[in-house]
Formats: sequence, structure tokens, C-alpha cells
Amino acid sequence: MNTIIEPFRIKSVEPIRQTTSEEREIYLEKAGYNLFLIDARNILIDLLTDSGTNAMSTEQWAAMMRGDESYAGSESFFRMERVVRDLTGLKHVIPTHQGRAAERILFTVLCRKGHVVPNNTHFDTTRANIEFTGARAVDLPIAGAADTQARLDFKGNMDVAALERLIESEGAQNIPLVMLTVTNNSGGGQPVSMENIAAVKRVTTQHGIPFYLDACRFAENAWFIGQREAGFAGFTPKQIAQKMFSYADGCTFSAKKDAFANIGGLLCTNDDRVAVLETNLLILTEGFPTYGGLAGRDLEAIAVGLEEVLHPDYLRYRIASTGYLGRHIADHGVPIVEPPGGHAIYIDAARMLPQVPKHQFPAQALAVELYRHAGIRSVEIGSVMFGAHAQHELLRLAIPRRVYTQSHIDYVVEAILEVNQQRDRIRGLAIESEPPSLRHFSARFRRL
Ligand SMILES: *Cc1c(COP(=O)(O)O)cnc(C)c1O
Repeated sequence: MNTIIEPFRIKSVEPIRQTTSEEREIYLEKAGYNLFLIDARNILIDLLTDSGTNAMSTEQWAAMMRGDESYAGSESFFRMERVVRDLTGLKHVIPTHQGRAAERILFTVLCRKGHVVPNNTHFDTTRANIEFTGARAVDLPIAGAADTQARLDFKGNMDVAALERLIESEGAQNIPLVMLTVTNNSGGGQPVSMENIAAVKRVTTQHGIPFYLDACRFAENAWFIGQREAGFAGFTPKQIAQKMFSYADGCTFSAKKDAFANIGGLLCTNDDRVAVLETNLLILTEGFPTYGGLAGRDLEAIAVGLEEVLHPDYLRYRIASTGYLGRHIADHGVPIVEPPGGHAIYIDAARMLPQVPKHQFPAQALAVELYRHAGIRSVEIGSVMFGAHAQHELLRLAIPRRVYTQSHIDYVVEAILEVNQQRDRIRGLAIESEPPSLRHFSARFRRL
């Protein structure tokens, strides 16, 4: 059977609102053609992000009722800690309100000016938190990652030879940690192989450098390893994830991704001394170490979510559904970043709209048209977001977990193919006003 079915049935529903393209034209004008400034109630299908947009299960809602809201020593914390230790094998488990809070605490403890932190590709908050300490964040993706059309099994891998050269030139004493982001979010949601994780670990061990995973999408990465890497076919996603974590000296994690939660994060380490410094900082801004800025009920949702996300039926459906969207638009001529990643599909807008030059923001123009035509919200990852540093002009369609059905995905495919047929008519945008930094959130545009 080829039909992809959701491995769940629906118990609670949330209406989504149909609007006309005339209405959406008015919303766009009011929002200055910036989809961040459009009210969610005016969006039919929201593919802005997969972060914090997860649908929770009956078991998660049931567990939330059990939430122990004690300030200190909450039972909910110990339940969550047991699940995380079983999965990661890491000794210290520190809850935080989001992934970036874990990053801020980790880098404040480990980094200072003159330091360099390598990663396959840093996520934007990771890079910003490293740079905030005065250290430098360096991306070391493999060579093939820059070619959007290359179909590599593990396009998220780190260039290990480049890592060795960096350690040689900077000195191991100036590299407080090496990170690997699984899956490689900024690199198109592409997976990292176990072989690459092991190779990075070998190099860091050799130089006495701690090795951390940015583990936001660890379950999706584990699924790809099981499907694509020799020697892992007979393993469960949980066994593969456990093996991935077994190489790590610590990890940061956003529970808004692969924990099916709507909020939360984690910071884990095996280093007793580092853990003391981290919990001291945690108390300053997040809270006592058994809640870390979260409610007891949030800790319960995370504990249950971390187990559910590793279910093979879920991961098979998840990756198949993302791949289905990618293949169906790519096979009809829409250029996407190949191959489809785990949590999102990226359209190469510069290729799709050759008539719109980079400085007229082709991916933003495409995002606006997709919303105007079909009420779908996506996000520009290109010159609006990164200015002159943008490598590509991409439109990201991120898929919230367990939220939309296959017929929603079919609607998205149909809408994109219709927009593609009229692509010659799409024109660029000019910026009318922008804030001093992070302009993609609030800049206003006009149509050319
Ligand atoms: C989302 C994300 C983060 C930051 O987590 P938040 O919970 O949004 O603060 C860090 N790294 C990666 C790879 C992410 O996807």
C-alpha cells in the first residue's frame, strides 16, 4: 500500500479559516508584504515553522494533569530526567525554557573572546549566542552541501578534514567545544551519519575537546540513519538515537522540535564542574534546577513526547510526508533543495523566478504569492534574512508535527504547482522600512 496515512486519529479539532484572495491582498498590504506581520487567524495552512507548533497526544495531555508544580524537587522533573538519561546516557539534565536558553548558559560558561566554536552549520540562535560571548562561530559543512541539487544521503555531515585543519590553525586550547547539529537545520534539514558523528568524536577526543550535539531533531536524524546507513537496518530508532548520544559529552535541545512540546529546552552534560557553573547561571535567569523556567506540566509533556517521537510508525509517516511534498513539487519542475530533509522542504526561489534579481528578494516575493494565492504561510531564508551574506534564495515550508493531514499536504502541492505555472508574472519587492537588526521579523516591503 502506497497511501501515506497519519498513524493517529483526531480527538480534538481546531478550525482553520478560509479567506478569499481579495481579502488576503488587503492583509498583505496592511502587513507590508511581511508574513510575520499577518495575524494567524488569517492563515489557512501555516508552514512558517515546525518549532513549538506540535500537536500533543492524549498521553501528553493526560500526563500534564499529573504535573507536579512544586518549586523544588518536583516529581515531574524526576520523570523527565529518567527519560532523558535513558535516551542520552548523559549525567546532568538541566531544563530550560527554550533551546536558546540552554545555548546561552552553555556558551557563557565555556566561551570567551578569542575562542572558536565549529559546527556542521550553526543555527541562527546558536551562532548569535556564541558571538555574544565574543567567541567566533565557524560552519564546516561538507563540500557537497552548497549544491542545492546534489542528492547526498548525509548532506548534513561535517567536513572532518576541515575540522582537523581548524584545530591545527586555532589551537585546541582555543576551541572550548565542537558541535554537530542533527539534523542540520540551516543546511536544509539534512541528516548527519553515525560514521560522521563517530569521526568528529575521534578528533575531539584526540585533542581533549568536549563534543556536543545540538539535538533538536535527533529522532528524525536517527530515522534517516536507520534507512540509509549500512549496518543500522535492524536497529530501532531509539537504539540508533542512544548510539548517537553515546558519542556526546553533552547536548543542547529544543523541546519545541522533537519532543512534541510547545515550549521547553534541555542542557545536558557529563562534566560535573561545568554542570555546577551552569546550574548557578540557571538559577539567575531561568529558575531552580528542577524546573528551569518551565511548569511541571511542561516537563511531563516533554517526558512523554521524547518517547512518542521515536515510534517507528510516527517517524516513517513523518519522513514520508515531507518527502511526498518535496517529490510531488520537484517532479513537476519546482526546484527544491535536494534531497527532501526531515522537517521542511526548501524551494530554490532564485532558480524558480530567474526574472527577479537577488536584491528584489525572489523568495520573499514567492512567499507573498503563495499566501495571496492559497492562504499558505511559508518563510523566506535568503537576502531578507541574511542580507549580503545569503548563500541562496530559499523559501522554507516547515511542517508542524502531527498537525496537518495528507489532504492538507495535497492542497499545498496543488497550490505550489499553480503558482509555478504563473511564475513569469511574479515580480520582486523593495524594502520600504527596516529595523537595525533581524529585519526579516518586521521589515515592510512594497511591490515593484
Ligand atoms: C530551534 C533550534 C534551536 C533553538 O531552540 P529554541 O527552542 O527555538 O530557542 C537551536 N538549534 C536548532 C538546530 C534549532 O532548530
